Amino acid sequence: MKRINEIFYSIQGEGFFAGTPAVFVRFSGCNLQCTYCDTDHAAYVQMEDAQILQALEQFPARHLVLTGGEPSLQLDTSFVDELRSRGYFVQVETNGTLSLPPEVSWVTCSPKDSLLPERADELKIVYTGQDLSPYEHFPCQYRSLQPCSCANTDEVIQYVLEHPQWCLSVQWHKYLQIP
Ligand code: SF4
Repeated sequence: MKRINEIFYSIQGEGFFAGTPAVFVRFSGCNLQCTYCDTDHAAYVQMEDAQILQALEQFPARHLVLTGGEPSLQLDTSFVDELRSRGYFVQVETNGTLSLPPEVSWVTCSPKDSLLPERADELKIVYTGQDLSPYEHFPCQYRSLQPCSCANTDEVIQYVLEHPQWCLSVQWHKYLQIP
């Protein structure tokens, strides 16, 4: 059984895959309590793996975003293997504090408190003026900075212009008012 907050079909609005049609599975529960967390993931229904797989089949996309909350609290190798065998590209959005099954296709990590993750194909950081030097040499394919609740967008644009190893991530879904 997994605790699922919601399953929905939309466009990935942020990071490396922004613009990609994707099925989102939001897992309930997180091991952190960030003050700026704007994700409602407390409510949930219990679902068997087979029920989740059946729910996914109603959507045409094969890009899957497992998000939360913190999906690593509930993910296991057999579930990820089953998703991959059905042709899904499995992107996981994580805070990076816990291990993930190595079979996932892509790890998007938003690390907290300068903690470096075990693996991240992509670092996506909410910028609040913190020191980003711990991440400068972390081996990943893409680095982006995101304004905090859209309140410091100008500051992030200026930082990215001065440090071009970072890209700007703007949460397109909020501008487009889609889920
Ligand atoms: S790690 Fe993410 S989901 Fe968890 S409390 Fe922080 S912002 Fe919210």
